[in-house]
Amino acid sequence: MTFRIISRTDDRTDTKTLAIPALDRSISSPVLDTRRRGLHDLRISVTDRCNFRCTYCMPRSVFNEAYPFLPHDELLTFEEIVRLAKIFRAHGVEKIRLTGGEPLLRHGIEKLVAMLSAAVPDAELTLTTNGSALKAKAHALKAAGLNRVTVSLDSLDDATFRAMNDADFPVQRVLDAIHTAAAAGLAPLKINMVVRRGINDGHIIDMARYFRGSGNIVRFIEFMDVGATNGWKMDDVVPSAEIARRISEVFPCAPLNPNYAGEVAKRWRYLDGAGEFGLISSVTEAFCGACTRARLSTDGTLYTCLFAQKGYSLKSLLRSGIDDTEISEAVQSIWHHRADNYSELRTAETAKQKKVEMSYIGG
Ligand code: SAM
Ligand code: SF4
Ligand code: SF4
Repeated sequence: MTFRIISRTDDRTDTKTLAIPALDRSISSPVLDTRRRGLHDLRISVTDRCNFRCTYCMPRSVFNEAYPFLPHDELLTFEEIVRLAKIFRAHGVEKIRLTGGEPLLRHGIEKLVAMLSAAVPDAELTLTTNGSALKAKAHALKAAGLNRVTVSLDSLDDATFRAMNDADFPVQRVLDAIHTAAAAGLAPLKINMVVRRGINDGHIIDMARYFRGSGNIVRFIEFMDVGATNGWKMDDVVPSAEIARRISEVFPCAPLNPNYAGEVAKRWRYLDGAGEFGLISSVTEAFCGACTRARLSTDGTLYTCLFAQKGYSLKSLLRSGIDDTEISEAVQSIWHHRADNYSELRTAETAKQKKVEMSYIGG
């Protein structure tokens, strides 16, 4: 089968075609890749736009008025997203996460949640948001069938948070949204904090203290070299081991077993019973060996790694009029040939590669 292969970096989109070997009909379903990794998670970017300009994700110097965001007719429609979700579910996907860009900016997002919830009722349906529109939408999202929500929050210090989101957005509005979402039944929430040395690493303990005992779980994320615009340097990364050490000096804690094989965050529990936190160590402790995540970009391109430089246009298949069986075979074939392991190979040189931006591929 021939695919349009999309390479989209910060400033341009290149398209060429590539033939993927025909499906070997002896491949068992659910499909495994070349390292025997299943296809269990699907992240769907529903918009490449965002009202924040987090310096580590969409630096304002690049994502400015001149930036070529996707025109609306390039986006997958809700019907196309649902069609693909059903196909991925049949290949073993158990969790679907809506992301972006800022997913709550996509007009009618509650309707998409309801459509997905009806179409793939046995998959877990979650969403990652910056929280800016969550207070207004939390109850509707819950009613539509959303199971859980992850909110990104990089500091409790208002000045630091406003500087990191570079949109002058105040902390208190995100905290209000977190409380509303928990009350709406989306608890336990996960709270994502990207830690950058010298920027917000001094606020790790405050973050741990605030959410201890709340039932919500903070995940401290190592700053990653996603995309090609965030100026990543290894020196800016605070290793998870250091974060665990710093927290344990104030709040004694110990590692916990994963909830399931391949869980991205390493779980830690507070010894006084005040709950748990997580560490996501994709830089210092690569977890490619257990990576079961596929990503569907805003314009319907399938990526098999967060750090990919090319993807496969499922949208062109969807819009070519072929039936679900053929699209299903295409997905199966792509996954079967997958060999990604970027984080195991990361160097200062690979960090400079023209990788796809996170806001487009979906975080
Ligand atoms: N806009 C939503 C949000 O911020 O939650 C969803 C999309 S965002 C790309 C998804 C997650 O990726 C967020 O938790 C964000 O903090 C994280 N992220 C973005 N850039 C990152 C980077 N360079 N390193 C680590 N995590 C990053
Ligand atoms: Fe927007 Fe989320 Fe990226 Fe921040 S991390 S710029 S909120 S997409
Ligand atoms: Fe998965 Fe790619 Fe991250 Fe490795 S680098 S864990 S293959 S997304």
